[in-house]
Amino acid sequence: MKKKRWVVKLGTGLLTRKDGTTDSRQIGLLVAQLAKLIHDGHEIVLVSSGAISAGMTAMRLTQRPQTTTGLQACATIGQIELMSEYQHHLRRHRLLGAQLLLTHANLDSRTSCRHATHTLEHLLAQRRFLPIINENDAIANEEIKVGDNDRLSAHVTNLVHAGTLIILSGVDGLMTAPDGTGKLIPRVTTLTDSIRQLASGTTSQRNTGGMTTKLHAAEIAAQSGAQTIIANGRTPRILEQIATGKYTGTLFKLKAKADPAFP
Ligand code: GLU
Repeated sequence: MKKKRWVVKLGTGLLTRKDGTTDSRQIGLLVAQLAKLIHDGHEIVLVSSGAISAGMTAMRLTQRPQTTTGLQACATIGQIELMSEYQHHLRRHRLLGAQLLLTHANLDSRTSCRHATHTLEHLLAQRRFLPIINENDAIANEEIKVGDNDRLSAHVTNLVHAGTLIILSGVDGLMTAPDGTGKLIPRVTTLTDSIRQLASGTTSQRNTGGMTTKLHAAEIAAQSGAQTIIANGRTPRILEQIATGKYTGTLFKLKAKADPAFP
């Protein structure tokens, strides 16, 4: 396991303002943190959501499209918008973003996985590129899509044998109450029924997932021995704090199961 190899997942809510428009300042702050880690010798693979939301903004839609085709079309436009944002900020740190769009079928195919791994290894070895992965929403329909980027990021973690999966969103971590209130649970070693009950799915016009998919992700990532950290991406310098081990968030150190409950 490569200790300094991290997969970082950024959720839509983190990359957008309250009105749903892309939050360029916030993306800039996150890219600055990622750039510092890369320049410090970390190998980072980014999994970024936000394409559909960015597409909604560009297309001036206030409601999330209700049809698969509508969502797919939205993603085709939004993905370019999103990548332009990343590229703009990355260049300021002498880095370049490298886009990979994956589907569930790719993850199921040994050949595709091998190609994806080779490409990622090639990019990471050069220390000046940031691979940015999203689901290939344009061609993923209900039957074939991974569905949420929490789980996609966990599969990517296994693909590149990363030591840590960091899921950043607008919440501090897993809380003692299912509605996200109460106290933060700093460490989880077993996904008991009561832990699962604390994670209630949330969706909105722009976001997918919620705590449930994050728990699934931690479980999937554990299959390759990776730990998962859920933390608030709006906390200043959160990635730096995680690198030093002093951060507010929930660390999942789960044992791999022979038969994953959430394949
Ligand atoms: N692939 C979707 C997008 O870029 C996001 C899915 C998710 O956030 O889980 O909008």
